[in-house]
Amino acid sequence: MSDNVSDGVSSFADLGLGPELLNALSGLGYEEPTPIQREAIPPLLEGRDLIGQAATGTGKTAAFALPLLQGLSSDEGRTGPAALILVPTRELAVQVSQAFHRYGRGLGVRVVPIYGGQPIGWQMKALERGVDVVVATPGRALDHIGRGTLRPQEIKAVVLDEADEMLDMGFAEDIEEILRETPDDRRTVLFSATLPPRIKGLTGRYLRDPVQIQIGREEAPPGEAPLVRQNAYVVARAHKPAALGRLLDVEAPTAAIVFCRTREEVDQLTETLNGRGYRAEALHGGMSQDQRDRVMGRLRGGTAELLIATDVAARGLDVEQLTHVVNYNVPSAPESYVHRIGRVGRAGREGVAITLAEPREHRMLKTIERVTKQRITVEKVPTVADLRARRLELTRAALQESLMEDDLSRFLAVVEPLTEEFDVMEVALAAVKMAYESSGAAADEEEIPQIAPKAADREGRDRRGAGARRDRRGGTPAQGMTRLFIGLGRSAAVRPQDLVGAIAGESKLSGRDIGAIEIADRFSLVEVPESAAEQVIKALRRTTIKGRKPTIRRERDTTGRRPR
Ligand code: AMP
Repeated sequence: MSDNVSDGVSSFADLGLGPELLNALSGLGYEEPTPIQREAIPPLLEGRDLIGQAATGTGKTAAFALPLLQGLSSDEGRTGPAALILVPTRELAVQVSQAFHRYGRGLGVRVVPIYGGQPIGWQMKALERGVDVVVATPGRALDHIGRGTLRPQEIKAVVLDEADEMLDMGFAEDIEEILRETPDDRRTVLFSATLPPRIKGLTGRYLRDPVQIQIGREEAPPGEAPLVRQNAYVVARAHKPAALGRLLDVEAPTAAIVFCRTREEVDQLTETLNGRGYRAEALHGGMSQDQRDRVMGRLRGGTAELLIATDVAARGLDVEQLTHVVNYNVPSAPESYVHRIGRVGRAGREGVAITLAEPREHRMLKTIERVTKQRITVEKVPTVADLRARRLELTRAALQESLMEDDLSRFLAVVEPLTEEFDVMEVALAAVKMAYESSGAAADEEEIPQIAPKAADREGRDRRGAGARRDRRGGTPAQGMTRLFIGLGRSAAVRPQDLVGAIAGESKLSGRDIGAIEIADRFSLVEVPESAAEQVIKALRRTTIKGRKPTIRRERDTTGRRPR
């Protein structure tokens, strides 16, 4: 098997990480570093400042977490945190802090996420107990620094994660103030999907001789672009297995390879798919050559239709029958995408590449498009109705084939007696129904929520959806009340208690002052006393709901609705 990455460094151990971290990584089923990790970890271990241009999905969190953790293990006798990670949202604060926790388990590192919207008292207690790494949204971090509960004096490293998003959200001043509060000899690391001038200003003022790393700058590898239809589907993590199943049903691949990030993911997904009736086989670096050969034999022989694999295990693999390549996650770099989809569409045959992206990962899709100079069309996950239509179509095609190819005379004994009692058309319909149902048609009737990519989501928040109209109960708000529009709804799992909590927590109103609440797919409407409306709007704009900063404003008239 050949290593496709040109710099020759291919394992986490080669990057200089210690045994505790290496253990944690192999426990998580990470087989090799991603490109951003290969490039960022060595300079960060040396203590350099760094600017990394990388989006979510590239493995950037581990790229800064691993070297920071390694530095922490030798840090004794501190009273405050040694590392501060600033992130734009609560959701990311939780994710990044979980990542630190997972990687740093063997080192006994204490990590605390702090973000707006959570009672400050809990956070103060957690900080008092002693902590090595704080992962925070800028506003809350500054709040704690002001209260003296977050001591910046001993901070050795600050990471600005998703810096462009933080600036977009208006955190620029908070970030600069925090940086000024930390020691001058700290090191500063910045990750951002884009590097607009405002970010360059920030790095110019606060970073020292930073190493610069960019993922996705490379040109696509030479060679003819394969004949591949490239589609992407944006789905929440929780719906990925169902979405994959739906796509497989609609696409009906002869043979497909599904790429996962880790061994764990490979094993889990293989089990899930087998449980759903697919013939899936796992292939990863933890398997012996013998086991792998057997798996490949089953795929080539047609006993298995799906191969669930990591990049490492699938390297150099060539399967004639392959019609589909599925990226269960957005690949960590464009080269990896190119290598993967290069497995179909060979020798002039057509192939299909499908990528499942989580809402936060759409930027990585754009980077891949830019590098490959090919379009990846974002499609909607087929609905139950689409699936039924497709299954009917497949049933029709199967019947047609049978009519043309098979000797059907032995079934005359079944049909003839029936025609004495029923019309031939009716007999045919019943037979078709049985054929349709035996293809597993009754299963999988659950709708998978559609999600727009994150950017589109932002633009789309003000739109009125069909779901909203159905949901709207009251025409005009109750007397003395005003209806507020909050650009977040059911698709973001918003519940009435989240809205009451945010309003009561951030303004002077109590739960009882809040009137009717209506939650639509993409937004919510909440009635509040007219006299408090402005104050509530201001308060809500300062906080996050479900980790996001939705549009908050007075409800407008609902004329000029656009369909979804
Ligand atoms: P990030 O870009 O940091 O949000 O990471 C994206 C995902 O990739 C996360 O779910 C990580 O757990 C996973 N990940 C990061 N590095 C690796 C790696 N070297 N191998 C496999 N998975 C990884």
